Amino acid sequence: MLTLLSDCLLAIVLFVLFWYVARVSRNVQGVLTWGAAHLIYTIGATLFDAGTATFSEAGLATAAMLSTHLGSAVLCGGMAGLGWAIARFTRRRALHPAEFAVVPVAVAVPLLVWGLGGAWEAQSVALNCVELLVLLWILWNLRVLREDPYRLPARMMMAGCALLATLYGSVVPGWSFSQFGFDEIWVSADLSIWFMLNFCMLMLSSFRAAESLKLSAMFDPLTSALNRRGLHGELSTWLERNDRGLTVIAIDLDHFKTVNDRHGHDTGDRVLQRFSETVRSGLRSDQLFARMGGEEFAVVTVGTDREAARQLAERLRNQMMRLDFSPPEGRPFRVTISLGIAIGDSEGEPFAELMRRADDALYMAKRKGRNRVEMHP
Ligand code: GH3
Ligand code: MG
Ligand code: MG
Repeated sequence: MLTLLSDCLLAIVLFVLFWYVARVSRNVQGVLTWGAAHLIYTIGATLFDAGTATFSEAGLATAAMLSTHLGSAVLCGGMAGLGWAIARFTRRRALHPAEFAVVPVAVAVPLLVWGLGGAWEAQSVALNCVELLVLLWILWNLRVLREDPYRLPARMMMAGCALLATLYGSVVPGWSFSQFGFDEIWVSADLSIWFMLNFCMLMLSSFRAAESLKLSAMFDPLTSALNRRGLHGELSTWLERNDRGLTVIAIDLDHFKTVNDRHGHDTGDRVLQRFSETVRSGLRSDQLFARMGGEEFAVVTVGTDREAARQLAERLRNQMMRLDFSPPEGRPFRVTISLGIAIGDSEGEPFAELMRRADDALYMAKRKGRNRVEMHP
C-alpha cells in the first residue's frame, strides 16, 4: 500500500516536470499528455491493487468492488493515453481520427467486464490485455527514434516496454494455471521499469525541447524564414560541404510602407507571410531563404551560374506579381519586389562581401524603377 501511494506522489512530481518541459517549449508534442496519462494510470493501478486489498481487509465489500472496477477503467484510460502521447511525440503531428478512439475503447473494456459481473481476477486479465496492446503500440512507434540524441533513451524505453509486455503477458497464462494475485515483488519490478520509462521519456522530451528552442532561435516567427543568425549557422555547415562559390539574391518589397499605411500592419504581416510561403515553395531544399530584417530577404544558392540565378530571380518576381492580396476593407491589391544578384567568385568570397554586392544591385533595381532584377557586375 505504502509503495503504491509513494508511487502516486512520484507520478505527481513527474507530471509537474513534464508540464514544465511542455511549457518552456511549446513545440514538443505529447509530453504533457504523457505526464498526465502516467498520473492517471498510477492512480488507477493504486485503486485497483492497493484500494481493493485495503477495503477488503476492512470488510468494506462495496468500496472494494468500486475500487476494483473504477480503478481498472482509470488504469486503462491512462494506459491508452500513454500510447497516444508516444504516437504524438514520435510522429510530431496531430493524431489520426481513428486513434482518438483508443482511449474510450480502452476504458470500455473494464466497464464491460464489470457489466458482465467479472471479479478482480477477470478485471486483472482484461486490463493486462489492454496494457499489452498499448505497450505493443508504443514499441511500434518508438522504433522510429533512431537518430542521436534520441536513440539511446528510445532503445531503453523499448527494452522496458518489452519487459513489461512479457510481465503483463504472462499474467493471463499464470492466472489460468495457479491463483494469480497481489504480489509485492512483482509490483516492485513493475514500478522500477515504469520509473525507467519515465526517466527516459523525460530525457527524450528535454532533447526535443532543446531542439525546438534551437530552431526557434534560428527562424523568424512571422515568416518562418531563417533569421540572420540561422542563415549564418546554416552557411557555416554548408560551406564545409560545398567548395563551390555562392550566389546571393537580395529581395526587398516595393513601397511596403504604403501597404502598411493604407491597409494596416496586420495586412502588411500577411503580405510578408504569403510572400515567404511563395518563395519557399519555389526553392529547392539546398537553397536557403532568410529574412534579413523588416521587408528585406535573401536567397542563397550554391553554384555561380549567372543565367540560372537570373532565371530564379525572375521567376520569384513573376510569382509575386501574380499574387492578389485581399485586405479586410478595400479592394484587392498586388505587391511587387525588387531583386539584386551577386555571384561569388570561386575563391570563396566572404558572405558579408557577397551580401553587400547583392544589396548594391538591389539598390540599382530600386533606382531603375523597382519590380526588376539587377545583377552586380
Ligand atoms: P522601397 O520600395 O524603397 O523599398 O520602399 P518601402 O516603403 O518598401 O521601404 P521602407 O524601408 O521605407 O519601408 C519599409 C517598411 O516595412 C517600414 C516598416 O514599417 C515595414 N515593416 C518592417 N517590418 C515589418 C513587419 O514585420 N511587419 C509589417 N507589417 N511591416 C514591417
Ligand atoms: Mg521596401
Ligand atoms: Mg527595405
